[in-house]
Amino acid sequence: MKKIVIIGGGMSGLVAGIYAQKAGFESEIYERNDKAGGLCTGWTRNGHYIDNCVHWLTGTEQKTQLRRLWEETGALTAETAFVPNEAFYSSIYNGVKITLWKDLERTEREFCQLSPEDSEEIHDFIESVRIAQCRKMPVDKPMEYMSPSELMQLGKSMQGIKAVKKKYGNISLKEYVKRFKSLPIQKVMTDFYSGDSAVTSIIFSYASISCGNGEIPVGGSEKMIERMTSRYLETGGKLYLNHPVKKVHIKENEACSIELNNGFNVEGDYFICAADTYEAFYHLIGEKYIPEEWKLVYNQHSEYPVYSKFQMAISVNRDGCPIEHMTFIDCDKIKVAVSTIDRICIVSYGYESSFAPEGKLVLQIKIEQNETDYNYWSYFSEIMYQKKKQEFGKLVMEQLLIKYPELRDNYEILDIWTPRTYHTRYNAFQGSFMRFRERADVKAFASNGKFKSIPNLYIASQWLQAPGGLPTAAAAGKFAIQHILKAEGKYVLF
Ligand SMILES: Cc1cc2nc3c(=O)[nH]c(=O)nc-3n(C[C@H](O)[C@H](O)[C@H](O)COP(=O)(O)OP(=O)(O)OC[C@H]3O[C@@H](n4cnc5c(N)ncnc54)[C@H](O)[C@@H]3O)c2cc1C
Repeated sequence: MKKIVIIGGGMSGLVAGIYAQKAGFESEIYERNDKAGGLCTGWTRNGHYIDNCVHWLTGTEQKTQLRRLWEETGALTAETAFVPNEAFYSSIYNGVKITLWKDLERTEREFCQLSPEDSEEIHDFIESVRIAQCRKMPVDKPMEYMSPSELMQLGKSMQGIKAVKKKYGNISLKEYVKRFKSLPIQKVMTDFYSGDSAVTSIIFSYASISCGNGEIPVGGSEKMIERMTSRYLETGGKLYLNHPVKKVHIKENEACSIELNNGFNVEGDYFICAADTYEAFYHLIGEKYIPEEWKLVYNQHSEYPVYSKFQMAISVNRDGCPIEHMTFIDCDKIKVAVSTIDRICIVSYGYESSFAPEGKLVLQIKIEQNETDYNYWSYFSEIMYQKKKQEFGKLVMEQLLIKYPELRDNYEILDIWTPRTYHTRYNAFQGSFMRFRERADVKAFASNGKFKSIPNLYIASQWLQAPGGLPTAAAAGKFAIQHILKAEGKYVLF
């Protein structure tokens, strides 16, 4: 039996492992941390569960390719329930609150009531979201293995998407929102994705959520990963936690072994690097082997920017909590690390009573951070870093309390984390937890994860394809196994 060695037990690594077992290979996953899941994780502080990932899981709709993948890997089961969720998010600007409801008619009605002079543009936006609901990610197999008729079928199913893409072309969100006279509508459009993102970013995300294809599984990120880990182990996979990998050894254009930090070497027939791609190329595999297109992308910081967040979790009384679902509020202009901000995102996790002790719920506060902020956080010694986190945490809390004075005697800070956390724990490039942000005016970058010069080595990661996130990571893991099956001369479809 041929052996596949997988570096990294995040979403990509776990999915690769599960499909490797399913395809009859022997497989081993080497993960640097004490649990699997990578960026898809959660942790407990003072009796509260802090979910660090799933705000929405694309692919929850029945009878889609992605839903099948989630069920085959145990991420979802037929019994998995979803959190009752009425909205994508709300934005409050100058005291006016508006919401992107799952119910598109309600959103259109409320937006038009607020700003009748924008009716035509609002209608256009909602129609585009409705059309984009047909967008379902093809994850049965990589496009390169699709037959002409499968490609034609895919093209047909994506016609609506092509029309939406054509309509908005490479217009950025900040250009697009000028079409609306209402400032609160302008804000709601630019709160989730930053101004230089493509308009289609918000249209596609809102489309998934509004058609029920982007739900939150009950139990959150940690439970989802636990189910996947069990699936992998039950099918005979071997998961080595606390086993950081130092190097992939390559001889005469063939990967032969990985070297662990503890000095041991592990041999295999095939290798899948499912760690962050920067870590993979620049530390594990070596610069010599980095494909030119990847070098270019990593060197063009402004064209392919990354982003992360400064985040806090607080416990508040459940009764009278002023925040429901995800809400963006305005605040005084303040500096958090290097970035100056005037909006704060607050997410309520009140939807699951098991996440907090009785009578309490967890709120998470999220502030956008960029590459410069990451450099700022990375600069400090551990002691100074802890001090700075507390300082900025206090500053952000002051702003929150101006808006919600009722929280003043009713909150406990559970945790504060920054882009540095993601780099330290997961080797995430510049602390980024999604892949490159899609700029409207820059061609999206995509890779199939294969090396021309090293045929038994593959990359599997959310960084391979836009838009990143869990579905892209999962698809990359599955596709890596299909590439290996192809290399073995076997049928690729599971
Ligand atoms: C706050 C937050 C919210 C998010 N919300 C969503 C959401 O709502 N929907 C969505 O789809 N996505 C969301 N994401 C993104 C999602 O978590 C990621 O896209 C996905 O988990 C990436 O998976 P991956 O396998 O590509 O990478 P990773 O999760 O980075 O996995 C890589 C693994 O490799 C390990 N590793 C790294 N280096 C080594 C080494 N040298 N040796 C051994 N192991 C190593 C890491 O520890 C990690 O476990 C969110 C992420 C965060 C942080």
